[in-house]
Amino acid sequence: MVVVSDFDAIVIGAGIQGSYTAYHLSKNSKTLLIDQFALPHSRGSSHGQTRIIRKAYSKTCYTHMMTECYQLWKQLEAEANVELFRQTGLLVLGQEEDPDFQCVKSTLVDNKVPMMTLTSADFSTRFPAIRLPKEVSAILDETAGILYADRALKTLQDLFRRFGGTIRDGEKVVEIHPGSLVAVTTTTGIYRAKSLVITAGPWTNKLLNLVGLQLPLKTLRIIVCYWKEKVPGTYGISKGFPCFLRMFSSAFQHHFYGLPSNEYPGLMKVCYHNGNDSDPDERDIAFRLPSQDVNLLSDFLSKEFPGLDPKPAVIEYCMYTNTPDLDFILDHHPDHRNIIIGAGFSGHGFKLAPVVGKVLSELCIGKKPSYDLSPFKIHRFSFKSLL
Ligand SMILES: Cc1cc2nc3c(=O)[nH]c(=O)nc-3n(C[C@H](O)[C@H](O)[C@H](O)COP(=O)(O)OP(=O)(O)OC[C@H]3O[C@@H](n4cnc5c(N)ncnc54)[C@H](O)[C@@H]3O)c2cc1C
Repeated sequence: MVVVSDFDAIVIGAGIQGSYTAYHLSKNSKTLLIDQFALPHSRGSSHGQTRIIRKAYSKTCYTHMMTECYQLWKQLEAEANVELFRQTGLLVLGQEEDPDFQCVKSTLVDNKVPMMTLTSADFSTRFPAIRLPKEVSAILDETAGILYADRALKTLQDLFRRFGGTIRDGEKVVEIHPGSLVAVTTTTGIYRAKSLVITAGPWTNKLLNLVGLQLPLKTLRIIVCYWKEKVPGTYGISKGFPCFLRMFSSAFQHHFYGLPSNEYPGLMKVCYHNGNDSDPDERDIAFRLPSQDVNLLSDFLSKEFPGLDPKPAVIEYCMYTNTPDLDFILDHHPDHRNIIIGAGFSGHGFKLAPVVGKVLSELCIGKKPSYDLSPFKIHRFSFKSLL
């Protein structure tokens, strides 16, 4: 086994959160980024061509962070000379009496985010391919759009290397020894550093088990469906069709969201914001199609998106790691201050990765975080210390 001991920081997990953290750290610190799989891979939460970026949130803390996120995404585009963001706008569709819908609306208004409220007449003129139920209202977050996810991940990892960072992929972390120097053992080597960041997505609790901690995280397998346009281009990005978020007030019915057809010609990505409990190492084992989630999507699309064939044309998989309140965990390990945890991104973390990476890197080097992290502390939950 190779022993290398001279890193300032080690980041475990080269998904979007770990890669952004490593990128920020590499500007001033000697940093090692480790992933269990050969990169790129499609086993975690950050793969795929696209993600939605938006300021429309029901909680103001995220809308605040998004201001800097947009700037940092733009800075990354400039540094690497690649396009990572395309503005499309986001339709938020929900019932006036739904408190969450009201919160999204007031967060946009209070934060002076460019937005529009559409009357039903405006809506049917502008979006004739959506059949909006009478009781549903529409607002448009004009700042929103699409992030090119796979490209963003590769860009960050390339820049990280360019700034002197080291990536060890295809190396699974199997042991962690806390201390003033943290020692990390992988299937290939032993590495030591002054601090460690754990951004292991759905594998977080498996890694935290190595450092005596278990968090209330639920890992879900998400079915990513693409639906064929009956007339190609009806919901196309080149025709100016926006992303959408269809909210429901019932606690039993999760949101649907979609992105204009773009990544696969003639296919629109529409997903259900929920899935089945699943161990990330068993994601593809023992599942049956059509699942209940695909049926829910089919039913929804038949009613409200009549221009799509309500049978999925392509199905892919991804993982969510949910906290009980769906807010992130960005904190020190309760017993080891030089171990930092970024987890529980609850299906909405990609767009926020520039700021997540920034605050995790600040915690890592002992700097005061740029944001109030109280909503993201571990102590808001009862957690299990295994010590
Ligand atoms: C279908 C889907 C749609 C989504 N849509 C949106 C969206 O529109 N907008 C948005 O903002 N967000 C969205 N998200 C959420 C977003 O993609 C995730 O929040 C984000 O990708 C989480 O990244 P991560 O780095 O925490 O996890 P991951 O990408 O899972 O990365 C964790 C990494 O840790 C590595 N690892 C784990 N254990 C070990 C070990 N023992 N040793 C070494 N390496 C290890 C893994 O291999 C993995 O690469 C979506 C997610 C899904 C699944």
